[in-house]
Amino acid sequence: MNKSYDVIIIGGGVNGCSIAYYLAREGKRVLLLEREKLAGKASSAAAGMLGAQVEVTEEGALFTIAKESRAMFPSLQYELKEHSGIDIELVQKGMLKLAMNDEEARHLKSSIAFQQKLGERAEWLAPEQVAEREGQLSDALMGAMDIPMDGHVNPARLTHAFAKSAVNLGAEVKEYVEVYSLIMDGSVVKGVETSNGTFDGEHVVVAAGAWSKRVLEECGMTLPAYPVKGECFSVITDRPLLSSTVFTETCYLVPKSENRLIIGATMISNTFSENVTVGGLFQLMEAAARVLPAVKSATFERSWSGIRPQTGDGLPYLGQHPNYKNLVIATGHYRNGILLSPITGKLVAKMIQGEPVPGYLEDFRLDRVKEHAKG
Ligand SMILES: Cc1cc2nc3c(=O)[nH]c(=O)nc-3n(C[C@H](O)[C@H](O)[C@H](O)COP(=O)(O)OP(=O)(O)OC[C@H]3O[C@@H](n4cnc5c(N)ncnc54)[C@H](O)[C@@H]3O)c2cc1C
Repeated sequence: MNKSYDVIIIGGGVNGCSIAYYLAREGKRVLLLEREKLAGKASSAAAGMLGAQVEVTEEGALFTIAKESRAMFPSLQYELKEHSGIDIELVQKGMLKLAMNDEEARHLKSSIAFQQKLGERAEWLAPEQVAEREGQLSDALMGAMDIPMDGHVNPARLTHAFAKSAVNLGAEVKEYVEVYSLIMDGSVVKGVETSNGTFDGEHVVVAAGAWSKRVLEECGMTLPAYPVKGECFSVITDRPLLSSTVFTETCYLVPKSENRLIIGATMISNTFSENVTVGGLFQLMEAAARVLPAVKSATFERSWSGIRPQTGDGLPYLGQHPNYKNLVIATGHYRNGILLSPITGKLVAKMIQGEPVPGYLEDFRLDRVKEHAKG
């Protein structure tokens, strides 16, 4: 007889692992299946920025969950350390979003006004104030938006911390097990067919990042979603060049421990190829050197890429399938999956337990566009 679980989660990225953690905390019998190794895809390629205000600039449900999720990190770091022994390397030294021309300055100033109206902390810094704060930045910039509340974490560590905490709370995690298809019985999902046999579950969660669409297509469901490759590289400097994360329209630079800077990221739609191109690196290097000239003397460390899950309208899919109520989809986090992982885990756990969920989840329903999620 197959072993039966309360919840089977497909995908061992940051979102699948977060969901496993929040469910295991509630005593659910959880099985997480990952076809390669945990955190092997987008969740280790990420720079780890918690850019609630830098990335999301419109009022709406995405801004709301971004802020809620960011606010979870300070306590989460201790919780995960206690359960897993892993430090997620949370850094809360703020972000500067630079204006490199007049138009960008105008845009940032209106973004600041909008954020202040909503009660968020964001301030305009004139060029001399930026220079005072970050002495190595180019003097060609026109000012910056200072966002003190945005920070960053180590994304691979965060993913492993969720997974290990879940395991220590009783979840099972199986790496190198690929889910081939969902086992359906009428309007109910009974389990999954995998490279390691079948597993039965009361609920199934698809958290397979950019591959979620493929998993669902295996059983005739559609999901408007597409992959967007991102390339990044890191350098090591003799001394720290930045203290805050620096974000521009063409690149970002994230200062990590041991004088490491992560510089990213390109955006190449509709490819699952994970190659790193010379053109991509060249574009990032030029952009980074324009902002931080001293980066030219840094030592190149390594480059990598990852595939982000993007959706038709740019909002994640977080909710039950309209035709299969015990099937939950959690994907489409695009450039913010690290930031959104705690709230994703928490909300999916609530949905599965039948607890009340916030009204804003309506915006992330799978059937928000008519042809979405046909059974
Ligand atoms: C270069 C780059 C920089 C980024 N920077 C940031 C950032 O600074 N901040 C931020 O918040 N976000 C960032 N992101 C976005 C973030 O990385 C993603 O949104 C997030 O990692 C998505 O997590 P996930 O768990 O949904 O997907 P993934 O991490 O892709 O995990 C999905 C997992 O599902 C597995 N899988 C797929 N199919 C199957 C199957 N059939 N059976 C079993 N397992 C399967 C895959 O192997 C994979 O491990 C960045 C992304 C990239 C590429």
